[in-house]
Amino acid sequence: MTGTFDSKLARAGLCSDKAHGAIMPPLYLASNYEFSTFGQKPAYEYSRAGNPTRACFEDALAAAEGGRSAIATASGMAAIDLVLSLLSPDDVIIAPDDCYGGTCRLLNWRAQKGHFKVIFAPLHDTQKMQSLFAQNPKMVFIETPSNPLLRLTDLDAIIPAAHRAGAVCVVDNTFLSPAMQQPIKYGADIVLHSTTKLINGHADMVGGAVICASEETGTHLRWVANCTGCTGGAFDAWLALRGLRTLPLRARAQSQTALQIANALTGHTAVQNVYYPGLKTHPNHALAARQQSGFGQIVSFTLKGGQDAAQRFCAASDLFILAESLGGIESLVAHPATMTHAAMDAAALRKAGISPSLLRLSIGVESAQDLLTDLDSALDAAHET
Ligand code: PLP
Repeated sequence: MTGTFDSKLARAGLCSDKAHGAIMPPLYLASNYEFSTFGQKPAYEYSRAGNPTRACFEDALAAAEGGRSAIATASGMAAIDLVLSLLSPDDVIIAPDDCYGGTCRLLNWRAQKGHFKVIFAPLHDTQKMQSLFAQNPKMVFIETPSNPLLRLTDLDAIIPAAHRAGAVCVVDNTFLSPAMQQPIKYGADIVLHSTTKLINGHADMVGGAVICASEETGTHLRWVANCTGCTGGAFDAWLALRGLRTLPLRARAQSQTALQIANALTGHTAVQNVYYPGLKTHPNHALAARQQSGFGQIVSFTLKGGQDAAQRFCAASDLFILAESLGGIESLVAHPATMTHAAMDAAALRKAGISPSLLRLSIGVESAQDLLTDLDSALDAAHET
């Protein structure tokens, strides 16, 4: 359909049921489909290769990101691994030195097995990156904002430079979703997601997606996804499609509350540093305002008093549930050093700037006032000695 981004998402997949005219697209759980005769392939033959419900979600997500095709995978990690299949043993991939811990683990493991060479670098530092491009990377993997310190990479600067060096540019857009950032508009070749997060938004499935700017890459990766069997399940796609319809509303509400939380943290005596691109004091605030259409639902901060203070904060909070993941309708607090980034060794954690007193909040859709009240009492508890 035509219309605004919000309207297109709100109506994703609606009225597509040819069998009964159901308004909402049906959930096809079937694993296989009937052939009329030999050599006559039906539109769908086997659900690992293609499934109508998954296709409905893939089409909606590809349109939302401005891509030509999308492949829904079993998880965000499966999406990343699918993209890494484009690399050969002599190829170099450059990835952020502060990327998601699971991404770091996968890149290191595959590099140790000789599948490619990996260089971890500060992608947010455009100047430093110029010299690295002289190594002719085959792929540049961008995560912006980064997890958990919310450093931004300037897509307008890094993507053309990476292309000049002959690299494929991949952006992990999990933290913002197409509702707040559309990397293909900046020239990204591939965008990927952990759809477990904002896209589904309700913390009740695990999934991923790869969105390709070109039909050719999409066709190739769809072939690889069927070959390796990393495609996602129909029910997960159905849930994620349902979540996608309310994504713009959720993203806006969560970002607005996140800014209020970041402001409240900034003024509190228990807090050492606050990381949120929506704050004017954030070093990438101007870039965030230009590159993104929202500042996001993640706020990170360090507490005076080290890990003990962080532990007191988590124990005292009623509303921020201590858990991994992010982007859902429920507010969460995570301790990256021991949870999301535990796969990184001490040196990698230090290099990435992840200290023991760092906490990452994922802001949900609860009332801002309730969250602020809870935050205040948890910070008071963290401050007690
Ligand atoms: N990319 C980012 C930025 C993430 O935060 C995560 C998970 O937290 C992933 C990828 C991996 O996604 P999944 O947990 O769905 O495999």
